[in-house]
Amino acid sequence: MKTNWSANIIFCPSAIYYPTSEDEIRSLIINAINSRQKIRAIGSGHSFTALCQTNDILISLDKYQGIVSVDASKQQVTVKAGTKLKLLGDLLFQQGLAMENLGDIDAQSIGGTISTGTHGTGIAFGTISTQVVRLKWVNGKGEIVVCSATENPALFKAAQVSLGSMGIITEITLQCVPAYKLLIKNEKENVGQVLASLPERLSQNRNFEYYWFPHTDTAWTKTTNIALEGKPAKDSLFNYLSELMVENYTFKILCEIGRLLPSQTKHIAKLVAGSVPTISKINYSHKVYASIRLVRFTEMEYNVPAEAYEDVMKEIMKKCKAENFPVHFPIENRWVKGDDILLSPAYGRDSAYIACHVYHKQDNSHYFQTLEAIFRAYGGRPHWGKMHTQTTHTLADMYPQFAAFNALRKQQDPDDIFINPYLEKLFN
Ligand SMILES: Cc1cc2nc3c(=O)[nH]c(=O)nc-3n(C[C@H](O)[C@H](O)[C@H](O)COP(=O)(O)OP(=O)(O)OC[C@H]3O[C@@H](n4cnc5c(N)ncnc54)[C@H](O)[C@@H]3O)c2cc1C
Repeated sequence: MKTNWSANIIFCPSAIYYPTSEDEIRSLIINAINSRQKIRAIGSGHSFTALCQTNDILISLDKYQGIVSVDASKQQVTVKAGTKLKLLGDLLFQQGLAMENLGDIDAQSIGGTISTGTHGTGIAFGTISTQVVRLKWVNGKGEIVVCSATENPALFKAAQVSLGSMGIITEITLQCVPAYKLLIKNEKENVGQVLASLPERLSQNRNFEYYWFPHTDTAWTKTTNIALEGKPAKDSLFNYLSELMVENYTFKILCEIGRLLPSQTKHIAKLVAGSVPTISKINYSHKVYASIRLVRFTEMEYNVPAEAYEDVMKEIMKKCKAENFPVHFPIENRWVKGDDILLSPAYGRDSAYIACHVYHKQDNSHYFQTLEAIFRAYGGRPHWGKMHTQTTHTLADMYPQFAAFNALRKQQDPDDIFINPYLEKLFN
């Protein structure tokens, strides 16, 4: 039996394989084609939707990790698709290199990361898929396909975010940058003041994001800039314990109290918001971006056009006040540069991402449905790894290139061997 990270998806594949080479991955796919079985790839299982679910064959790339080759002159590194972001950060650092931007944890595989359009924050940076310059995969005909901005560029734009629907990616070439240090400052601020100064915060900092705690006026801001001076401090015990205790263990206890006593949600939300720590630390980028997330939750995240952000957020705040949702997880707000990847939520527009979370033992339906309606009214597009209720029909309206993607997907997988019931709703 397998579950995803949040344990909201449980499934029983008939077989799970852990290939160690591209040849093995290809043989598994050819066997599946010949025996008319479905196949799904899984990275770290950190998606909140049933993307990896299958009753047939599941291929885990946990034993397919590491660097394949380094082109030092171009600062490009080719890695096996199963490589976890934490290992990737360490391996790149050994080469004097780093990813230009990352999301807020490093547990995912790079294959899973790019397949769902995972992103960090910073209006100058695209989703992590935009850091990919070449891809190699085994498609649904058992063929090995290679593409990049110069080799089969149309297919490349489809494959950069493809939900594991075109085949199993084996190798990913990343455009890296020289390793860099960051100074991160986490502060407790008034949300009204944050909203009033957003344009400056976004334009004057490398990375800016903030969390707003419903039922309060509190925002927790995270501002990150290059640190030219200053030694990369070893993670101080205070910072480590503060992250572990406040963001995880203490928070988990408060989540349990909130679950058992929903009438106390407001007080708990205020307690959580009040306990937000002020942190300032310098370290290498791959250490700074990654947070520890031990409290399980379910999550919905939507991309909205950057210019609509303030209207969307004001409407969400109004709704939260009116509906008094029993939620004590903060709402996370991030910014991402637009791109030209067919299924990227940031396709064709600079974007804001708004994410809402609910403790995994609590019902998220009313909260998520209400916020999803707001996102949709402003042209929102769902994060592919997070919960949503969209289907082929609505997605075709959201993504100008949806039909083009689906046609390329069908060429790569004519017998739909990579299509599970969840993807069937999206693509057929
Ligand atoms: C605690 C937590 C924090 C998160 N933080 C962020 C964040 O900061 N920013 C953000 O944008 N998202 C975030 N996410 C979402 C997460 O990044 C995505 O769901 C991501 O896809 C998970 O990577 P994974 O390796 O676990 O992929 P999985 O969930 O295992 O798989 C995701 C998809 O990728 C496909 N896939 C995996 N490997 C391959 C391969 N080799 N070839 C083809 N297809 C493949 C799978 O079939 C599936 O369709 C977070 C999730 C959690 C649980």
